[in-house]
Amino acid sequence: MTDITPFLPADLDYQTLVDIDKQAIWHPYSSTLSAPDAYPVVSAEGVYFQLADGRKIIDGMSSWWCAMHGYNHPVLNAAMQAQIGKMSHVMFGGITHPPAVELSKLLIDITPEQLTKVFYSDSGSVAVEVAIKMALQYWNSQGKDDKHRLLTVRNGYHGDTFGAMATCDPVNGMHHLFSKVMPEHIFAEAPACAFDAEWDERYISDLANKLQQHQDEIAAVIIEPVVQGAGGMRFYSPHYLKRLRELCDEYDVLLILDEIATGFGRTGELFACQHAGIQPDIMAIGKALTGGNITLAATLCTDKVSDGICRGEAGVFMHGPTFMGNPLACATALASTRLLLSQDWQAKVKHIEAHLKEALAPLATLDHIDDVRVLGAIGVVEAKQPVDMAKIQAALVDEGIWLRPFGKLIYVMPTFMVINDEELETLTKAMVKVVSQPELFAG
Ligand SMILES: *Cc1c(COP(=O)(O)O)cnc(C)c1O
Repeated sequence: MTDITPFLPADLDYQTLVDIDKQAIWHPYSSTLSAPDAYPVVSAEGVYFQLADGRKIIDGMSSWWCAMHGYNHPVLNAAMQAQIGKMSHVMFGGITHPPAVELSKLLIDITPEQLTKVFYSDSGSVAVEVAIKMALQYWNSQGKDDKHRLLTVRNGYHGDTFGAMATCDPVNGMHHLFSKVMPEHIFAEAPACAFDAEWDERYISDLANKLQQHQDEIAAVIIEPVVQGAGGMRFYSPHYLKRLRELCDEYDVLLILDEIATGFGRTGELFACQHAGIQPDIMAIGKALTGGNITLAATLCTDKVSDGICRGEAGVFMHGPTFMGNPLACATALASTRLLLSQDWQAKVKHIEAHLKEALAPLATLDHIDDVRVLGAIGVVEAKQPVDMAKIQAALVDEGIWLRPFGKLIYVMPTFMVINDEELETLTKAMVKVVSQPELFAG
């Protein structure tokens, strides 16, 4: 055996990691001039992060929707190691392999039945780019080039690349910074009908009017089903989606569902569109696809879309990432999805939903809190003022938990497949304690 130790990262202490990080690394949506210290995590196990100074904290974020099986899961580790022993990567042009074949079959089985083709990519944003490109190329192939714009709703989030960014909320996505190079799409009011609220047609009238008015130039509607994630953590009625599907059919517009955050059980259904029982023409998935172990995303579409594109001028779909269908990622996704489906995941999510509702409810009575809402394994507390990020993050870590608030939102998304009652209680108690302190908020 070769000694592999010299190739592992050196054992740097907590402060050295923080210092070098600060000099050399740019973190998500952060300043190089004034970022608070990053927290060095050296390992993770079950629901816990191990910090470089020995502290163990409970992850309440599932690493941004991904890690529903927690960390260092033996089944997923074994699947990854087995695949590494065969091949980590091979090109996908003209080549196929068992992990991609098996995963595609499984994804087609568990997603809405009209979806019959899987196009792989390496991140959620790219899966959204691919979805948009599919919609545009579809209409091009039908000789309807005028259908080149997208209709979406405010408060959406679909990723950070240019095509995806152009469909994010224009205000919190800061469209004005890039307005000279970004396509201008059509924005309807955000769905305002709460998840359980009684349906009223006026909730979709703005979107319906815009769809009617612009039908000849709209290629597709793109939307996050039931849960608007990074654009505001808002939940809306599945009935909205039912009406949206009908309207898309009426005006001959494709429906793209972005299930990147909601897919794989988080909301209480395997895919959030199943709350509404609707079928998209195109669907993007990512995030929890591999249980958060390695990056992989996919865009699924119907035969109508795939055949429609390929009958057109180009004859092929014009996209093909280098790491498309990466075997290691596909094998991980296959193992993660099978592990999810082999257990009563829905009961776990229901159980967590009940706990979150009860544990977070008292926060709603506080003067500095605006709203508390829970759906599936997602608990959201919306404050009246933005959080003081550095202060609240430190307070949360001091209480032994990891949450990553943004703006006025403090939210929890536990590793729902593995967290036990005691850990769940520790997590929500600490969250309630920290969020109850008005001095951790601006204003
Ligand atoms: C995270 C997210 C994306 C972008 O995925 P990345 O992997 O970060 O590129 C797109 N859409 C939704 C709904 C997301 O939550």
